[in-house]
Amino acid sequence: MQQRPYNFSAGPAAIPEEVLREAASEMLDWHGSGMGVMEMSHRGKEFISIYERAEADLRELLAVPANYKILFMQGGGLGENAIVPLNLSRAGTVDFVVTGSWSQKSIKEAARYCQPQLAASNAESQHTTLPDPARWKLSAGASYLHICSNETIHGVEFQTLPDLKALGSDTPLVIDCSSHVASRPIDWSRVGLAFAGAQKNLGPAGLTLVIVREDLLGHALKACPSAFDYQTVAEHDSMFNTPPTYGIYIAGLTFQWLKRQREGELAGIAAMEQRNRAKAELLYGYIDSSDFYVNKVSPDCRSRMNVPFFLRDESRNDAFLTGAKARGLLQLKGHKSVGGMRASIYNAMPLAGVQALVAYMREFAQTQA
Ligand SMILES: *Cc1c(COP(=O)(O)O)cnc(C)c1O
Repeated sequence: MQQRPYNFSAGPAAIPEEVLREAASEMLDWHGSGMGVMEMSHRGKEFISIYERAEADLRELLAVPANYKILFMQGGGLGENAIVPLNLSRAGTVDFVVTGSWSQKSIKEAARYCQPQLAASNAESQHTTLPDPARWKLSAGASYLHICSNETIHGVEFQTLPDLKALGSDTPLVIDCSSHVASRPIDWSRVGLAFAGAQKNLGPAGLTLVIVREDLLGHALKACPSAFDYQTVAEHDSMFNTPPTYGIYIAGLTFQWLKRQREGELAGIAAMEQRNRAKAELLYGYIDSSDFYVNKVSPDCRSRMNVPFFLRDESRNDAFLTGAKARGLLQLKGHKSVGGMRASIYNAMPLAGVQALVAYMREFAQTQA
């Protein structure tokens, strides 16, 4: 079988090849049903079995406690920037920690529904550090506190989630974990709600995952559309209206793939985390050792998933990208707001892909010397 190119897209992003092949083989006839998954009623027993398995596998993989609902929704990460305040804010005060483009968008959108307060920001470092939770300005009685736990564009990641209880606050923590969900475990004791668009690490665009603690349900604003009311969606097992059925199916195959992953003694998310750590160490290690490339993010908060880097001589950017593409290393161009390059190395990127990238970067630096 021919090796597919390595795809470093930030999103929609690479999907494990095994998952794509399995979906392709079932495209016309899922398990002898005579139907493809896209053609099935979401209320039929075939699709219900796909949905139930996906939910159970995800709950097991991420160790989601029983008092949290898993919702399969639509609207994407940006949709959740409105849907979360519609459900959780009670039109009151909400604290935001702004650490890059995505949390910036979140606070702006929330202002339509509640009173956002800036608890902390890393703007003075051009989004290359993370503010110390001990110094966050927490509002008394805030409905929740929002962070983006992995800033996809700036490449900044919380290595541990803030423990608001330890800071003397019982405010629920909301995390936008779109670009690192399932790349590492989540400490649910610190989280009230987690949301993620699927298109980075779980499957195709169009599916949005929401995991929410039950006691936070039931407080939606009157203006909240029924299809986006978490309580309503939860009561109908994500089938209040037609859910993104094909997205749930592909995410389900991805969960099965995740469960099969092994690194030594480790399995599932723990194995994935170990592999992701090795991939990130290899790439950052090479960048730091070279005087041709640079990553500007503080080492203690560098993202394992999204690695922005720059050629010190930016006049060579186009040559770098052209050469990369010729080697089967795709979509390395940085986000337009940051420039330079970005390698997104989500779960579906094997270590061999990062090795191929580093080999190319080394060779390119040598030929340009
Ligand atoms: C990609 C991304 C989003 C955007 O989600 P859409 O599905 O495009 O609405 C939101 N937050 C983060 C952290 C992301 O990486």
